[in-house]
Amino acid sequence: MTELTDFQRKISAFLPEMELRFDEPMAKHTSFRIGGGAEVMAFPKNREELAKLLKTFALLDTKFAILGAGTNVLAPDEGISGLVICLKDCLDGMERLDDTHIRVMAGVTMSRAAVFAANLGLGGLEFAHGIPGTVGGGVYMNAGAYGGEICQVCTQVEVMDMAGNMRTLSADKMGFSYRHSILEEQPGIVISADFALEPKPTEEIKARMKELIGKRSASQPLDLPSAGSAFKRPVGGYAAALIDQAGLKGYQVGGAAISTKHAGFAVNLGGATANDVKNLLREVSDKVFENSGIRIEPEIRIW
Ligand SMILES: Cc1cc2nc3c(=O)[nH]c(=O)nc-3n(C[C@H](O)[C@H](O)[C@H](O)COP(=O)(O)OP(=O)(O)OC[C@H]3O[C@@H](n4cnc5c(N)ncnc54)[C@H](O)[C@@H]3O)c2cc1C
Repeated sequence: MTELTDFQRKISAFLPEMELRFDEPMAKHTSFRIGGGAEVMAFPKNREELAKLLKTFALLDTKFAILGAGTNVLAPDEGISGLVICLKDCLDGMERLDDTHIRVMAGVTMSRAAVFAANLGLGGLEFAHGIPGTVGGGVYMNAGAYGGEICQVCTQVEVMDMAGNMRTLSADKMGFSYRHSILEEQPGIVISADFALEPKPTEEIKARMKELIGKRSASQPLDLPSAGSAFKRPVGGYAAALIDQAGLKGYQVGGAAISTKHAGFAVNLGGATANDVKNLLREVSDKVFENSGIRIEPEIRIW
């Protein structure tokens, strides 16, 4: 067994009850299946444990990162020093607040939230069914698909600051825009989100969700590891169309490639490294620029 680092020793002494894993491979926690070991990965069970973790952590003065389902993250091959706090399945729970509002904890997947709403006869989250991330990750980047977006239904968000203190932000304070929220500039951890939905027959909602899942499996390379759309939609076009027009479907760097099924997806063909993906994204962006004069930027969060 390798010797514990100073930080690993300190954090386990401070938090003997918390589930902590040392040198935990990020590849196990990212949909790309890429990434070296996190020095410490913590799995707080609830908001109290999370607050305790943050307060302890402030004393240790090391950097940390928040991970949801890891479906929009490219983690570095060399691993991550310091702490990764994994929230998927930790902040769990959903409740109906009144006739049209629900509250969903940040660690719940968006698909589960959409099914919960559908079973209550509440529509509005159909678009989120099939987005594989958590509600926390979805709020952080204002996830969207097929004309729907988190910001269209979210009314307020409970956020914990990095010192473990809670505040509630109404949606108009969240700075939502295309694949962006204020949390990118003002760090905070999404604890829960409230959604305003519309009464609708459950069967109608489920039929729409089934239709959208059908569209996804027909058009997206769901059989290969990826992090969803690799590039943001640029002004004046669609990234996938621009990549396709530049003849880059199937373009490969190491084990990473532009999907032959959907030009908007970068996929791991097997054994891809984070460097392969980064080089792929850079080369594709350059070639698209040469071909179209439009610069495309990664949507994937590169850690
Ligand atoms: C096959 C596939 C299809 C996809 N389709 C879509 C799609 O249609 N539309 C779309 O928008 N996205 C799509 N995605 C991307 C991804 O699912 C979304 O971006 C999702 O919102 C990310 O959530 P996550 O929990 O996986 O976040 P992660 O990937 O774990 O994290 C992403 C970012 O959010 C931050 N974060 C995560 N949780 C929290 C929290 N609780 N508080 C604060 N910050 C947090 C992280 O620090 C990180 O910066 C797809 C991905 C895949 C693999």
